[in-house]
Amino acid sequence: MIAARYEGPPEYFKVGEEKVPEIEAGDLLVKVGAVGICSTDAKIILGKRNIKTGLVLGHEIAGEIIDFKDPVKLFNRGDIVGAFPGMACKECYYCTLHLENLCMSKVSLGLQIDGGFQQYMRVPSRILENGNVMKLPGSITLEEATFLEPISCCIESIELIKVQAASKILIIGAGVMGLLHQIILRDTVSKIYISDFQKRRRELARELGADRAIDPGSENLAEIILEETHGIGVDVCFMCADDPPLIGQLCDMVRSRGAINLFSSSILDENYSMDPNKLHYKEIHLTGSHSSSVKQFYESLPLLHQYKQSINKLITHQLPLQRINEALKLYLDHIAIKAIITPNNE
Ligand SMILES: [Zn+2]
Ligand SMILES: [Zn+2]
Repeated sequence: MIAARYEGPPEYFKVGEEKVPEIEAGDLLVKVGAVGICSTDAKIILGKRNIKTGLVLGHEIAGEIIDFKDPVKLFNRGDIVGAFPGMACKECYYCTLHLENLCMSKVSLGLQIDGGFQQYMRVPSRILENGNVMKLPGSITLEEATFLEPISCCIESIELIKVQAASKILIIGAGVMGLLHQIILRDTVSKIYISDFQKRRRELARELGADRAIDPGSENLAEIILEETHGIGVDVCFMCADDPPLIGQLCDMVRSRGAINLFSSSILDENYSMDPNKLHYKEIHLTGSHSSSVKQFYESLPLLHQYKQSINKLITHQLPLQRINEALKLYLDHIAIKAIITPNNE
């Protein structure tokens, strides 16, 4: 079979022939159908995450069970499944608080153990027993199923920030995660403003129902937001772009007692700065959000069902595993919105 292993900078992935992984008691062997390339993969490749080289990355995984070794209950050969990557330790401080996304010794497919950028992936028994593998209905394609994990991360940020039905929201960045927030929240909130430097992304955001898509390069974003909200500011802002200079402006665009979620982490080495007095006097609620839980992974399925037509529009590129370096470059160059690798297609 073919696998793509992370080589560390300046190389991206080394693609080569390997033996199909061997499975042990209680393991599954999954024929990987589709895997999303995400910003986490990009950060690893650029050396911004402490991940060992030689690993098979890829954590937005869907495929077909082609083999297992007993004792395996509830699953069978031929089942189409999505795999949630993260397995929390269940013992650390955060695990005792049921905050498994913040687990201090989490082990994840594609981050600590071999993930989806290979034709066949072993799902170790402990991950299966943890409930990370979800059987998928026939109405969901493998490509669509790669969005389950990203959607679960949106569920985490939306839960943290407590979006209200009548909220006016601002999303910074119309990349895949910004647009996913928009798609999921469109029917709930009253107004969605989204900003992105790229015309094509702004057009897609409008097509997907944004009330206004703003170009922060040629327009005054803060002025527009204040104008749109009668000088009050939006209720909630999701920062879904890696844009440090904009961080300082967020407090000007969010109303008093509003909320800001820093959804995106940063690849850039620049420091973020925010005026503490603006947070203080406006009583703004500031939160980050990171990763998600198995429970949220399951909660993603009905959302994927409901919004799959829109979500499909985010898939701009689909490439075979042999072309993974090209796919990553399309992502890094902001040409791809969502690039999906299909390891078993030529
Ligand atoms: Zn991801
Ligand atoms: Zn833990």
